[in-house]
Amino acid sequence: MVLSKVNTVLGTVPAEELGLVAVHEHIGYGMPGSELDTKWWKTPEQAYDETVPKLRAFHENGGGTFVDATGICNGRDIDYYKSLSRKTGVHIVACTGFVGGDTALPHFARAGVEYLAEVFVHEITVGIGDTGSKAGVIKVGVSRGGRMTELDKRIYRAAARAAVKTGVPILTHLAIDPQPAIDIFTEERLPLDRVLFGHADDGLNASSTPSEWIMGQGGRIGFDTFGYETELPDPPFWARPRKERMDHFLTLVEKGYLDQLLVSADANCSPLGWPGVKGHTVNYIFETLIPDLRDGGIDDAQLKRIFEDNPADFLSIKN
Ligand SMILES: [Zn+2]
Repeated sequence: MVLSKVNTVLGTVPAEELGLVAVHEHIGYGMPGSELDTKWWKTPEQAYDETVPKLRAFHENGGGTFVDATGICNGRDIDYYKSLSRKTGVHIVACTGFVGGDTALPHFARAGVEYLAEVFVHEITVGIGDTGSKAGVIKVGVSRGGRMTELDKRIYRAAARAAVKTGVPILTHLAIDPQPAIDIFTEERLPLDRVLFGHADDGLNASSTPSEWIMGQGGRIGFDTFGYETELPDPPFWARPRKERMDHFLTLVEKGYLDQLLVSADANCSPLGWPGVKGHTVNYIFETLIPDLRDGGIDDAQLKRIFEDNPADFLSIKN
């Protein structure tokens, strides 16, 4: 494993300094356009009040790095992330790219592969607008419906080209219908260990996601919706029984896939345009997930690989 550097919103840091990483989270996530619906407006103070205590607790629990997987058009706000990072001491990695073709607004949805790749490369190598912050990961995803659309494929191809050019990895929303994605990555000569195929563990998609087939070809798999469980008071439609998800994860570890697995909680510090899922935060990692993993027989060395070594290797800029 060769580690290098990682782009955070406050600058480039050696991957060894990331500490414990939550690899797929959200500072604030909402559907495009929700910012125009006055019903959901929050003052900056309200957003800070909802977010800072969660990030402070994350830091106090031993969290080092928070990867914000909120794409362009879904509420990404880099200057805000910078101030949160300064305030809490948590490294925040921002992404370029889109949650899925169905959240790309018309300006981007109509753009060709070349244009989109240029946007991604610029945000990774020059910076995101005038913030001075560079994106550390590229987000792509499968649109609702479960099949990759023509636009999804265009975004995946642009992301692959940007990843090859910059060495920054790709993180996906959903790992269903992975064949077209893998074809595109292969055609663009992107090694599959540069891709984290996410949301392979949720209640809606786990059964139709061929995780072992993806890992067999070198891809990484995200068990990154830990905590969205049917035990919640008001569980979302993608919830899954807590034990069922853990058993699934432990089975993959037993089969030898530990180094290809990444975990996170996909929680939303301060939801935009929707109420969010009550009772679920990034700190599920410390409060429930790590104790559950220990109960399942995962030792300290394995925990370090899951939460530190694997994400450091994944997030390292490789070129
Ligand atoms: Zn997410």
